[in-house]
Amino acid sequence: MSSRTYVGLGANLGGDLLATLTQAVRALSALPGTRLVAVSSAWRSAPLDASGPDFLNAVVGLDTTLPPIELLDALQAIEQAHGRERPYRNAPRTLDLDLLLYGDAVLGTPRLTLPHPRLGERAFVLRPLLEIAPELAPLATCRGWQAQRIERSGPIPI
Ligand code: ATP
Ligand code: CA
Ligand code: CA
Repeated sequence: MSSRTYVGLGANLGGDLLATLTQAVRALSALPGTRLVAVSSAWRSAPLDASGPDFLNAVVGLDTTLPPIELLDALQAIEQAHGRERPYRNAPRTLDLDLLLYGDAVLGTPRLTLPHPRLGERAFVLRPLLEIAPELAPLATCRGWQAQRIERSGPIPI
């Protein structure tokens, strides 16, 4: 049985951010037992609680038979393939892949929290997520997100 999951993508280092997101979406859709269901536009956002260049963000919907931890392993392997480093919290990054939702799973383990704990307060997650899944609007828990600077950049050419 497969589960509908949503993965948030973000990049603000390493040159061609749209190419990075496009390659990451292709890698996600090629995971075993996984089908790409929806892809948001690319959105350009200012760093939140951090310095550095603007981000390019997107969200994809996947149907997958991979269990949540195996999906997280796969997300981290794709990040590593794009040279992800973690020098300090909220550092600029070549690629960040966050598991936003996994079906209706609720989990609080050291490696994985579901739903993603900051999902409801971030415009760079909510704008692309609600673009592809408007029925998830009740997840926007904090009003302030609508004031965060973000603009639609264009489609992801998958
Ligand atoms: P934030 O979580 O605030 O978006 P971040 O993406 O910069 O911050 P990372 O350094 O990428 O944080 O991840 C730190 C750890 O968070 C990971 O090693 C992972 O084990 C853990 N983690 C917990 N829940 C999740 C989740 N839902 N999706 C991705 N990683 C998660
Ligand atoms: Ca993140
Ligand atoms: Ca992350």
